[in-house]
Amino acid sequence: MAVAWLDDVRSTDVDRVGGKGASLGELTAAGLPVPSGFVVTAGTYREFIEDAGIDEELFSAVDVDHEDTEALREAHERAHELIMETPVPDDVREEIIAAYRDLGDGERFVAVRSSATAEDLPDASFAGQQETFLNVREDALVERVKECWASLFSQRAIYYRNRQGFPHEKVDIAVVVQEMVDAEKSGVLFTSHPSTGDPQIIIEAAWGLGEAVVSGSVSPDNYVIDRETGEVETITVADKKTMMIKDEETGETIETEVPDDKRSVRVLEDGEIDELIELGERVEDHYGTPQDVEWAVHEGEIYMLQSRPITTIDDEDEAVPDVEAAGADGGIEADSADSGDVLLRGLGSSPGIASGEVRIVTKLDHLDQVGEGDIIVTEMTMPDMVPAMKRAAGIVTDEGGMTSHAAIVSRELGVPAVVGAGSATHDLEDGQLITIDGDKGTIREGTEPEEEETEPIEDARPKTPVKPMTATEVKVNVSIPEAAERAAATGADGVGLLRTEHMVLSLGKTPTKYIADNGERAYVDELVDGIRTAAEEFYPRPVRVRTLDAPTDEFRQLEGGDDEPREHNPMLGYRGIRRSLDNPDLFKHELEAFRRIFDMGYDNVEVMFPLVNDAEDVARARDLMKQAGVDPEKRTWGVMVETPAAALAVESMAEEGIDFVSFGTNDLTQYTLAVDRNNERVADRFDELHPAVLSLIGDTIETCRELGVKTSICGQAGSKPQMVQFLVEKGVSSVSANIDAVRDVQHEVKRVEQRLILDSVR
Ligand code: PEP
Ligand code: MG
Repeated sequence: MAVAWLDDVRSTDVDRVGGKGASLGELTAAGLPVPSGFVVTAGTYREFIEDAGIDEELFSAVDVDHEDTEALREAHERAHELIMETPVPDDVREEIIAAYRDLGDGERFVAVRSSATAEDLPDASFAGQQETFLNVREDALVERVKECWASLFSQRAIYYRNRQGFPHEKVDIAVVVQEMVDAEKSGVLFTSHPSTGDPQIIIEAAWGLGEAVVSGSVSPDNYVIDRETGEVETITVADKKTMMIKDEETGETIETEVPDDKRSVRVLEDGEIDELIELGERVEDHYGTPQDVEWAVHEGEIYMLQSRPITTIDDEDEAVPDVEAAGADGGIEADSADSGDVLLRGLGSSPGIASGEVRIVTKLDHLDQVGEGDIIVTEMTMPDMVPAMKRAAGIVTDEGGMTSHAAIVSRELGVPAVVGAGSATHDLEDGQLITIDGDKGTIREGTEPEEEETEPIEDARPKTPVKPMTATEVKVNVSIPEAAERAAATGADGVGLLRTEHMVLSLGKTPTKYIADNGERAYVDELVDGIRTAAEEFYPRPVRVRTLDAPTDEFRQLEGGDDEPREHNPMLGYRGIRRSLDNPDLFKHELEAFRRIFDMGYDNVEVMFPLVNDAEDVARARDLMKQAGVDPEKRTWGVMVETPAAALAVESMAEEGIDFVSFGTNDLTQYTLAVDRNNERVADRFDELHPAVLSLIGDTIETCRELGVKTSICGQAGSKPQMVQFLVEKGVSSVSANIDAVRDVQHEVKRVEQRLILDSVR
């Protein structure tokens, strides 16, 4: 029998059907959704070369020095020629075609996939070394099978086997022929973290056929799921420029541009993630070891295209020559590579830190220039680059995800890698000294990283990396842009309040003085830089930036502060929007900063006006914003509710077009209760949970819900469990907490939400 049906194959049949065939047979038997198909067995290939008498010549042709690029190329060409020029015996040809006709309606497009007998074994990932052909039909089938056979002798396969000491004559190749899944979306799934072995499911997903993800030609979306809780920890939506599809005319797989409306849209829906998690669990349960699964979705059905053991998880922190060993958790530990400017960021896909000279590799023939200890920088690695990758200290690619060739091979070679770094081949220069961090995905200038204090960020990072998923968004307050990184490390859903006055305070001069000394442009630049730091850190999560609200007593401490008005009660004085409206010439610089930020493409920034009292304040601020070139129709903007007047006027303020209100409970409490928030003598009377305050908040939320205006809190009380409970019960849209409170607030929100759901069904 030249072929074996997948239904009749089990995992013990590796010698007969190769690793891939055996795995697919096993999965089919386990009831997993594997497309149907058959395997042209390894024995068929072996008989083919032996009966034709080409075996001896084949093996001697590929017995070459694997470090000699030219010799590898010649060996490959000769082996390929020998196989392709030898005809397949008629009986074998007929059997393959007969099996094809038995598949579906006999006219199906099939995938023709190599399945080497030494492939996919737990100790040696031969990932992506042999050919796969998609959308094949009867006319080309046998030829494609032969090409798969020939691909056993690709340069990279010869290199791998020679290096790892696999005798060529001991490796056979079977070919899987399987119904094509004309995938609308596809990708891969790791049932454990591929670098660290942590109990996290990693899913990568892109539009179209899976080839693009596996080859690394597109940066896929990345979903990280905590296996213990089943919760989705992070979702990174990539800008997916291209996809592979079947050309309806020719049936060929072609690369095409992703339509604009799908490029930055999430590929997987929640239900699909759940189904994939379940599939991943079933596969791992079945095998008892972490698996690397290829999957595809067609018309709502999920199919499993492949599963193999993950070969890249280190049992322990092995020392890698010339490379500093990475943290055991593979990504979030502080380490010594944080010095130097971050030039670029990508996905940390192979752990470790490496320094070296950049070698930009654009074509295969540049590979000779990659020396021992260099860092290869390339659009995406090609399998033929393996010898050079081995010599390199590190690898950086423009494109690709955790499962791209570069990622898999570099992990296996123990070479740190950062993939999907965007424009590395353009932004880095040949010979430039850089340090890459394969955990964090950073590429820094220079070679000698110094110790740096990273504790504040690590403090903020949740000790349990489980982010509770909540319907109510949980955001974080940021006072100074320098804290943005620390704030982002909390996993918050965005910034609920970025106080611009802190940026101004850090200038050491009042805005008027700063402009007098340095000019208007420099002042706007400072604001832009500060806002951009946070917007960048959180992108695409929203960052709500508030225009200036500094009481005059605070500004008095700055250079130029002598010119600030002296007020009896600064809290009730010249601050917030009232000051901005009174001095539009100064205010317009702030609005100009917003305009520039939007022009730069930071569409995640939102504008918030402080201390408004009524619709007139709102309308005037909005009009000035418009005059400065920020279109209120296009941008998300809103106001703080910090005075009882504002709370009572929310309906008329909504008519002016606000998208949101945010409760400034620090002020709302002081103005409702007539308690100076800075006066310790009356501090015991400062009670944000006072019924009067809660009543104003509760009513405002109710009105806003009717009017479709979002609500939030960004005063200190947003970090208090009782307030959180009250707000969630009332239906607030988001809560913004202090950095150190974010994780607790997330849990509190989740607890209340779950109780509300339970109450509604009991
Ligand atoms: C508030 O008043 O609650 C608020 C967040 O603003 P600030 O503390 O800056 O006045
Ligand atoms: Mg306030």
